[in-house]
Parts: sequence; structure tokens; C-alpha cells
Amino acid sequence: MQDIMELIKNKDPEQREFHQAVMEVMLSIKPVLDQNPIYRETKILERLVEPERVIMFRVPWVDDRGEVQVNRGFRIEMNSAIGPYKGGLRFHPSVNLGILKFLAFEQVFKNALTTLPLGGGKGGSDFDPKGKSENEVMRFCHAFMSELYRHIGPNTDVPAGDIGVGGREIGYLFGMYKKLRNEFTGVLTGKSLNWGGSLIRPEATGYGSVYFCSEMLADNGKSLEGAVCLVSGSGNVAQYTVEKLLDFNAKPVTLSDSSGYIYDEEGIDREKLEFVKTLKNVRRGRIKEYAEKYPQTVYTPVDPELDYNPLWNHNADCAFPSATQNEINGKDAQNLVNNKVWVVCEGANMPTTPEGIDILHDNGVLYGPGKAANAGGVSVSGLEMTQNSMRLSWSREEVDNRLKMIMASIHKTCLEAAEQYGHPGNYMVGANIAGFLKVVDAMLDQGVV
Ligand code: NDP
Repeated sequence: MQDIMELIKNKDPEQREFHQAVMEVMLSIKPVLDQNPIYRETKILERLVEPERVIMFRVPWVDDRGEVQVNRGFRIEMNSAIGPYKGGLRFHPSVNLGILKFLAFEQVFKNALTTLPLGGGKGGSDFDPKGKSENEVMRFCHAFMSELYRHIGPNTDVPAGDIGVGGREIGYLFGMYKKLRNEFTGVLTGKSLNWGGSLIRPEATGYGSVYFCSEMLADNGKSLEGAVCLVSGSGNVAQYTVEKLLDFNAKPVTLSDSSGYIYDEEGIDREKLEFVKTLKNVRRGRIKEYAEKYPQTVYTPVDPELDYNPLWNHNADCAFPSATQNEINGKDAQNLVNNKVWVVCEGANMPTTPEGIDILHDNGVLYGPGKAANAGGVSVSGLEMTQNSMRLSWSREEVDNRLKMIMASIHKTCLEAAEQYGHPGNYMVGANIAGFLKVVDAMLDQGVV
């Protein structure tokens, strides 16, 4: 374990998020390595932490003032042992190789847990869609795809959305892919319904996270009925987390964006949620406007001086971090514990720091790690690929039922693996071990490639 951590730190010292993601897995799989020396003998870990391929490219485009802009594009093809590379594209100014490698690494394990034949990948750009006109977003997406198209395909690598990439961007990306390849195939998921998308794909990550939470609670004699829930973010995952929480008669009370958060003690109901969807998906406004529309709400702007996030410091039963990585640190985790939160269920990828995870575990808070809890999105992406291959569309009910079944199966798999390797009830260890075994056994079957 030490060797692997040294190896990746020496090779890429600046990739802190990647080191963090690898460390978490390494700590979890120790009992598996102890029982199976073959994995060390065949250098499986060294192979697992090295992407199969990294593509990095220039994305030049022209803004509305006629000025040339240059961004950097990436695709990390991390592991294809169990299927074509699959994972989202992130457009955000913070994007760099280390962040995408952490996301691609997580994706490998997550995709293995879904029971579907999906390898792991991730990509994106340091392009910031915020404040850009519709035409600028289109020109950027077209420029991005005019290079990426050479490297992807329905049986090779199938990207999807992530932060900053929703239905609008997928549409522009698909348009350019289709033009350059002169073929209409399911090369991207998250497409619109009328040209190959799947019902429930936009909802899938948020819905899946709530299904996973409900499984965790049921196993511990609790339920979401009446539960007060803290949700961060206000994008795709956060919106559909709130929607499904309302179906379970829970009471979501917070939402956020990178400028601040709202706390609505009366609860975010369906009408307020519709307001948020229009605000964020159509008008592309800021969450502050929620407090202007619903004056009983408290809006708190981000304070860069604070070393904790006040969103996590309210009395509540459940927490659904659904914005970005490392948004719950040790202090936040302690605040959640002090506020008697029972469960943290991660809609975002790696939103809790290692110190935060330890505090949650030490205090008996149920902790659903992102690679299990947010796997609903990629699962329905996998179902979208299946429907594209069969050239038919399943009903909303059929996709939702499959999503529920997959989330229940991931929950069971995590618990069984955790139990078998001596960490009963530890979903993080269970997810890491189950995902690891599926991928590395396929790698062993395929030899040294
Ligand atoms: P969106 O772009 O739709 O929404 C992201 C939300 O998080 C926005 O409210 C955004 O605020 C906020 N946010 C982003 N970066 C930061 C930051 N650095 N600090 C504070 N707030 C931030 O993305 P998604 O909802 O799709 O993704 C959210 C999380 O879920 C990510 O971690 C993603 O990797 C993960 N995920 C997404 C899946 C999907 O299917 N979409 C699948 C699995 C995981 P602002 O608008 O101000 O930037």
C-alpha cells in the first residue's frame, strides 16, 4: 500500500485528489490483498492506478466579441476490463488532470458495482459555462468534440454529463460527433428523449441516491418519512434528490451553489422545486433568488474566511452532499454529528474528506459513499446504451424499476463484501472491495495487457 502511494505521489506529486481517491481504496482492500497474494504478484495495483490512456488536447474557439479563446480538453480512459470506458464530462474552471484522474478512478469501481458491463473513464475541460452565451456554449462544445470524436465510439468510450454538462451541452456535442462521423449511434448518454435518450436519465443520480439511502435506513430500522434533509448543490443531482425525497415524504430544507446556500425551515416543496428547476436550468440564475422569492428563507453567502460550511450545521436527520468534492471536511462532519444526523448519502463524487469519513464512522453515522450511492446515473446511462443498441425505448416505469433494483443490488453487494472481509456495516469498505474484485479478476483473466 505504502509502495503504491509512494509511486503515484512521486510520479504526479500535484494530483492531490487522485492520491486521496487511491488511498481510500488501498486502505479498504487490505484484507483482500492479505488473502490473495496473486494480486500483488501480478502488479494489479500498479496497473489499476495507471490510466490505460490519457488524451489531452487544445480546444480553440471564438467568443461573441470575435476573440479567440483557448481551453484545454481531456479524456481519461482509465480501465476497460469489464466494458467500454464510461463516465461523464465536466466543464468547470477547476478541471485539471488530477481531478479527472480521481473521478475516472472512482468511476471504475462505481461502474463495476452497477452490475452492467461498463469500464471507467472521465473527461472534461477547464471551460466555464457560467456567463457564456448560448452561442458561445455551442461553439465551445463543437470545438471540443471536433477533437474528442476520434477517440470515442459506442463500443469504445461513451461519455455523459457531469458538472457543467447537462442536456444542452450533450446535444451540441452529439451534433458535432454525428456530423464528423456521419453516423447516428449511442456515443453519448444523457441525450434528449426525442433523439435516443432514456426516460429517467436526468433524474437517475438523485433518485438513485435517495433509493440507496432508503435501503440503508430500512436496514437500520429507520425511514425517510418526515426526515429533515440537508441537500447541497442545486444542479442536476440536487434537484432530483429533492424531488425523490418529497416522494418519500421527507423534508428537504437546504440547497446551494458556489455563491451561497438557502435554508428554508418550512421545507422545499414541489412548487418551490419547480421554481429552482426553472431558475437553474432555464434562466441559469443564482440560488440567492430563491430567498428573494420565498422571504421566510435564510440566504447565507459563501464566506471564504470560514473553515467549515454552515449548510452542514443545522438540526437534521439526513445529509445529501450533491455539489462537489471535499465539501464536508472534519469540522463539517463533527457538526453533522452534533446536530444528530443519522445518515450521509453522497450524491456528489468524493464530497467527504478522509478525516470527515472517519468522524462519521467513529460516531455511528451511516455513511453511503458516492461510488455506491450515486451510481444510479451511470446505471441508467448503461440502460440508455442498451436501449440504443436494441433501437427501442422503455417506459418511465420500466427504467425506474430497473434503477430501484440496481440500487438495491448495490446496497446488498456492499453489505455482503463488508461483512465477508470483517467490516460489517461499512459501506465504504464494501463498495471498494466489491468493485475492486470485479475489475481485477477480469484483468487477471485477460492477462498482462
Ligand atoms: P451540475 O453542474 O448540474 O450542478 C453542480 C452544482 O454544484 C451547482 O449547484 C454548482 O454551483 C455546485 N458546485 C459545483 N462546483 C462547486 C464548488 N467548487 N463549490 C461549491 N459549489 C459547487 O452538476 P451535477 O449535479 O451533475 O453534479 C454534482 C455532483 O454529482 C458532482 O460531484 C458530480 O461529479 C456528481 N455526479 C453527477 C452525476 C450526474 O449524473 N450528473 C452522476 C454521479 C455523480 P454553481 O452553479 O455555482 O457552480
